[in-house]
Amino acid sequence: MYGQQEVVKDLIDARNRDGGQILFDVSDTAVHDIDTDRPRITFRDADGQAQELVCDVIAGCDGFHGPSRKAVPHDAYDHTYPFAWLGILAKAAPTREELAYTYHERGFALYSMRSPEITRLYLQVAPDEDLNEWPDDRVWAELHTRMAVDGESPVLEGPLLDKGITAMRSFVAAPMRHGRLFLAGDAAHIVPPTGAKGMNLAVADVRLLSLALTELLKRNDSRLVESYSDTALQRVWKAEAFSWKMTSMLHILPTADAFQRQVQLAELRYTAGSRAALTSIAENYVGLPW
Ligand SMILES: Cc1cc2nc3c(=O)[nH]c(=O)nc-3n(C[C@H](O)[C@H](O)[C@H](O)COP(=O)(O)OP(=O)(O)OC[C@H]3O[C@@H](n4cnc5c(N)ncnc54)[C@H](O)[C@@H]3O)c2cc1C
Repeated sequence: MYGQQEVVKDLIDARNRDGGQILFDVSDTAVHDIDTDRPRITFRDADGQAQELVCDVIAGCDGFHGPSRKAVPHDAYDHTYPFAWLGILAKAAPTREELAYTYHERGFALYSMRSPEITRLYLQVAPDEDLNEWPDDRVWAELHTRMAVDGESPVLEGPLLDKGITAMRSFVAAPMRHGRLFLAGDAAHIVPPTGAKGMNLAVADVRLLSLALTELLKRNDSRLVESYSDTALQRVWKAEAFSWKMTSMLHILPTADAFQRQVQLAELRYTAGSRAALTSIAENYVGLPW
């Protein structure tokens, strides 16, 4: 387990150690001239001063709501799900060593851990769920109900550090490049968290992009840059497929008829009982080969 916030801390440390610069609290960010070999970023710094960066290339790693994707002409593939996740962070030691994904007639639940002292738990809820309707007692009761096996709940209660609702979405923007602006990570694609692939995909994009930019800027070879979007998208679509499959298999689908419910249960039983199916999940979950 390498928690996302630990990855970010380590990346910031590495950047500082290498003498690189990180600008926090900027605003009004915009990209310009991406069709030229001198693209620019304009922004206001933390003191409100207007600033400009003149670049060789721009890596648009600014998440789903950043300005980069809007500057890239693209086709958008968008899918929303008829449910959301209510997530809590609790000061309670994990009682298990592994994540537990739970299918229950009242909805999906997920047991995960952030550290030896802190657990992260999720419940499937309606997409327009009101957080005020979920006092802590109700969250714990629902977690116990959905996660109990033979009447025994693995969930240990503790003070809540955080509580929030996350929408479930699948999204891909293609292509992931225009001129000298390259999209990477959530700026180009979103997966529902069920497959735990979002940050992994962002890292995969950046690994590919760093090789391509090194070839372009150090050896004036544009071949990897030209193929960046197509190569990255092949992996992106496999992760989209895996995340969609895990989400569809494990959640109660409000619109499913009785036939679809039985097919879903058959798929789940097959997966839990088949070495081949478990191997496929493990391969996708840990990360596809480069
Ligand atoms: C509940 C939940 C659970 C998840 N669990 C997992 C998991 O288990 N495993 C996993 O792999 N992924 C997981 N993810 C997904 C993961 O968090 C994201 O996919 C990942 O953070 C994407 O990284 P990114 O760098 O592309 O974008 P972000 O992390 O969104 O970073 C974008 C950066 O750009 C900056 N930015 C945005 N707009 C501007 C602007 N206008 N100007 C300047 N800067 C800007 C932001 O401040 C931010 O620093 C989860 C997500 C959620 C919501």
